[in-house]
Amino acid sequence: MTRVCVVGGGIAGYTAALAARRDGADVTVVARAPGATALYAGGMEIIDDLEEVLRSPHHPLARLGMGPVGLATELDTAISTLQLALSKEGLKFEGTWRSRGLYADIHGLARPANVVPDTVARGELGALSGKRVAVIGVPQVGDYDAATTAQALKQLHGIEAFAEEISIPELPTAASLTDLYGRRAPAPRARGAAIAYPPGFIALPEDGFELLASPPSPHGWRLQQAIALGVVTAEVTSLEAARGRVTAARAAGRTLHADAFVLATGRHIGGGLRAGRTTTEPLLGLGVFYDGTPAAALGVRLHHLKYLDPGEEMKLGVMTDKHLHPLLEDGSVPYVNLYAAGAVLGGYDYSGPCGFGVPILTGWLAGRFAAKQEG
Ligand SMILES: Cc1cc2nc3c(=O)[nH]c(=O)nc-3n(C[C@H](O)[C@H](O)[C@H](O)COP(=O)(O)OP(=O)(O)OC[C@H]3O[C@@H](n4cnc5c(N)ncnc54)[C@H](O)[C@@H]3O)c2cc1C
Repeated sequence: MTRVCVVGGGIAGYTAALAARRDGADVTVVARAPGATALYAGGMEIIDDLEEVLRSPHHPLARLGMGPVGLATELDTAISTLQLALSKEGLKFEGTWRSRGLYADIHGLARPANVVPDTVARGELGALSGKRVAVIGVPQVGDYDAATTAQALKQLHGIEAFAEEISIPELPTAASLTDLYGRRAPAPRARGAAIAYPPGFIALPEDGFELLASPPSPHGWRLQQAIALGVVTAEVTSLEAARGRVTAARAAGRTLHADAFVLATGRHIGGGLRAGRTTTEPLLGLGVFYDGTPAAALGVRLHHLKYLDPGEEMKLGVMTDKHLHPLLEDGSVPYVNLYAAGAVLGGYDYSGPCGFGVPILTGWLAGRFAAKQEG
């Protein structure tokens, strides 16, 4: 049986582990802490325009060299397997990568998503059109204002929304949204309306739904808790290699041997990249690229671009070949049994329409490749 070691406990590492186990591998996942996955707003953006993605030569999905039909087939299998696995952990999701809806956040601003928790799905803005919506406020909570959210839903999306304040006396003084986490949803007085709750409540009524979150996110925390089961909590401090293969990961004084490794260490929040004068990949010194060019080679030009727009930093990352082997700066593959997945990859904007799509699909394929030691 192939032994696969996945480094990283976010959505990319979880999907890689799912895929590798499905292909018969013995999988160990090692993760230091929650990363960006625990902060997601509550709507998974998988992909918007597949054809456009394939036209961007450095996009991690285009680099797989698979073509639209192959990618679509893998996406179908990856997303449905992920949804099934999460539902077994008690988290139900709705939607597919082919469907797309708009969902309001706690400020009433709309955000697109393809796959969402079932508690968010009922709040799709198109489906709310023509309905009255009671936006629940809690007077003790200081970092959210239901009246402002209701006003935004009205003005920006033409929804007949109104605020209803419900006191929860047992909350601490100067409570925040995080204090609502895990409490039963209070029942509103308003009848016959859909009910928008700030995220975090449980046992929502049938016509209730949750708004999307800003960090810290109850949606992200629920997801992170579901995917963390069975993960070894430790920091991988180094990877040992010999003759072009990674042989072991060193973590918390232990040496974890495996036949194949998946690097799913995330970007700056996860810790897979280290920003500095030059952004680096800390575990193996892999190449970090910007638009297909090694970042180190761009020198002051990259600093200038980042000065004009700090978002440019988010385009940086590891680059892979069609089997998701990460490359060195000179474009060579240093380790034949190492695969990279998720936000550690560059070439796309992870706050954009592939926020979860790249981690899920590259995680899925990296897990499969690792189980078969493909490439
Ligand atoms: C604030 C915020 C909101 C977002 N909202 C959305 C959204 O609503 N929709 C959307 O589609 N996308 C969203 N995104 C993007 C999305 O969250 C990320 O693309 C995705 O979660 C990345 O997953 P990942 O598994 O690659 O990385 P991460 O979730 O960051 O996981 C990286 C993992 O690697 C581990 N790790 C790193 N180094 C080591 C090491 N040496 N040893 C052991 N473990 C290590 C970390 O501890 C962590 O467990 C958001 C991102 C942010 C920051």
